[in-house]
Amino acid sequence: MTLHEYDVVIVGAGGAGMRAALESSKRARTACLTKLYPTRSHTGAAQGGMAAALSNVEDDNAEWHTFDTIKGGDYLVDQDAAEILCKEAVQAVLDLENMGLPFNRTEGGTIDQRRFGGHTRNHGEAAVRRACYSADRTGHMILQTLYQQCIKQEVEFYNEYYVLDLILDKDPQGTPEGEEVSVAGVIAYELATGEIHTFRAKSVIFATGGAGKVFKTTSNAHTLTGDGMAIAFNAGLPLEDMEFFQFHPTGLAGLGILLSEAARGEGGILRNSEGERFMERYAPTIKDLAPRDMVARAMANEVREGRGCGPHKDYVLLDLTHLEPAHIDAKLPDITEFARTYLGVEPYTEPVPVYPTAHYAMGGIPTNVHGEVLRNNTDKVKGLYAAGECACVSVHGANRLGTNSLLDINVFGRRAGIAAAEHALETAEAAPLDETAAETLNSTVERLRSTVGTSEAESVADIRRELQATMDRNVQVFRDADSLQQAQKDVAALRERFTKIAIHDRGKRYNTDLLEAIELGFLLDLSEVVVLGALNREESRGGHYREDFPTRDDEKFMQHTMVYGGDDLRLDYKPVVVTRYQPMERKY
Ligand SMILES: Cc1cc2nc3c(=O)[nH]c(=O)nc-3n(C[C@H](O)[C@H](O)[C@H](O)COP(=O)(O)OP(=O)(O)OC[C@H]3O[C@@H](n4cnc5c(N)ncnc54)[C@H](O)[C@@H]3O)c2cc1C
Repeated sequence: MTLHEYDVVIVGAGGAGMRAALESSKRARTACLTKLYPTRSHTGAAQGGMAAALSNVEDDNAEWHTFDTIKGGDYLVDQDAAEILCKEAVQAVLDLENMGLPFNRTEGGTIDQRRFGGHTRNHGEAAVRRACYSADRTGHMILQTLYQQCIKQEVEFYNEYYVLDLILDKDPQGTPEGEEVSVAGVIAYELATGEIHTFRAKSVIFATGGAGKVFKTTSNAHTLTGDGMAIAFNAGLPLEDMEFFQFHPTGLAGLGILLSEAARGEGGILRNSEGERFMERYAPTIKDLAPRDMVARAMANEVREGRGCGPHKDYVLLDLTHLEPAHIDAKLPDITEFARTYLGVEPYTEPVPVYPTAHYAMGGIPTNVHGEVLRNNTDKVKGLYAAGECACVSVHGANRLGTNSLLDINVFGRRAGIAAAEHALETAEAAPLDETAAETLNSTVERLRSTVGTSEAESVADIRRELQATMDRNVQVFRDADSLQQAQKDVAALRERFTKIAIHDRGKRYNTDLLEAIELGFLLDLSEVVVLGALNREESRGGHYREDFPTRDDEKFMQHTMVYGGDDLRLDYKPVVVTRYQPMERKY
């Protein structure tokens, strides 16, 4: 077991982690730990764009963007945070441009912009061109650009280090309100050797990304198992708004692989089995460019009412056939290739079968606008930060607008990086680190290794498959008390079975079998939190739609859900920050 000491340790090297690393490493001694090689992070899979009111092609401003973000989030957005997001958006894009990111250009040479769901001119008049993009590989370009800059700046990366534990100096739940709790470091497992490493630090930033793998049908990579969220939760910190999961309307039917909303931004149209452009009925003003929660529900409803397509009438069609092939090739090359490769469909001439796919966690580790992690509604944990999809600031509220996440990771990644470095510089010494923590993790790992060859043991793959199946079935676009109670029962039974798992690989080198078992534990922890939040939220708002409570209830539920762990899960609420925008009915 090895001990490392840094001013700042960043966990995650996706967009949020590397944007933070660029700021932090300028100011303080920084390490960036990542379970994947940095450029394999999911940010690299992002397709459509990054929002900023540049006004390069149409009149636009940060205030309209802020309003759209708050309305899109169904008024669960913390409005002070949304104002920062949209105001700092322009500089965030220019920063990337200055780093060398090859954005698509207008004929005049400025950054081109396109339409995306829920982004409008003048508070909902019509769709506006706000998304800056690089064909349909915007995330890839962001990730590569940030990585190049990190290399130039000699950021110290620890690649294929899996952080599995967070060390605080006190139990955050056992410490009275108002008393200080500080971060002490993290413990990581090195994939190549099986060695346990302790990283002591004055500041720690979690930037570990999403948790889409709690579902079977998802646009998310296999690695998105919500590690950071689960680790923080298991260290005694709350999770916020986890019942709000975004289902992206256009996953390839049956597979969940994403076709970016840019397809509709560039003119694509959704049709049912009657060839009808059904979004005209659900969102008469902006139609196919309504926010994702509304489009996903409309699609699921068309299928339920018998207007689905295909032999099982279980999907709808995304029609691009009226677009020029040259336009498709220039603006949507990758995603149209996905349709050819995975479904054998030619988008020039045939509509593409699509159905909603689990895409984005609106909830996560609660933070304030500086990225500081909260341990209850008011107290922050000294030196602990979170940014990106694993965090809940909350700028996305109950439903994130497309292109606002690539923005979020840049704006709040940067803020967290600066705040963490400044905190480290002001702090004489890191908090004392509990030396038994590494031992405890080591014995957990050894215990898992010793299960190899155990007969009649449970299989990790089986439990994961059953977990994802019940979440897909019961915690979907439409939910109700019955389906959620079923999910709760299923998750509890699977947790019980999880205590009896055995793995197949006893080795120390590249033991992914062992890590998949640990990741499954994280998925189980998070599923339980998602379901509890969803059961208790007896209203419909954004991505959370309860058939037994179909309207929004601002009186009771214009509040963030906070779930705390321990022997029994505990649920509490936190007020939403309202600055300028009073809630109103959400129509498009
Ligand atoms: C297919 C797809 C398309 C998308 N398109 C868009 C888009 O066009 N516009 C938009 O705004 N948003 C889009 N999104 C959403 C957006 O890409 C993500 O929300 C965002 O990139 C997340 O960035 P992140 O830095 O928080 O996490 P990630 O990029 O997922 O990075 C997470 C990092 O954490 C590390 N990590 C995780 N667990 C551990 C651990 N235990 N120990 C050590 N390291 C760990 C990983 O190695 C990785 O480096 C898309 C998402 C998907 C899936």
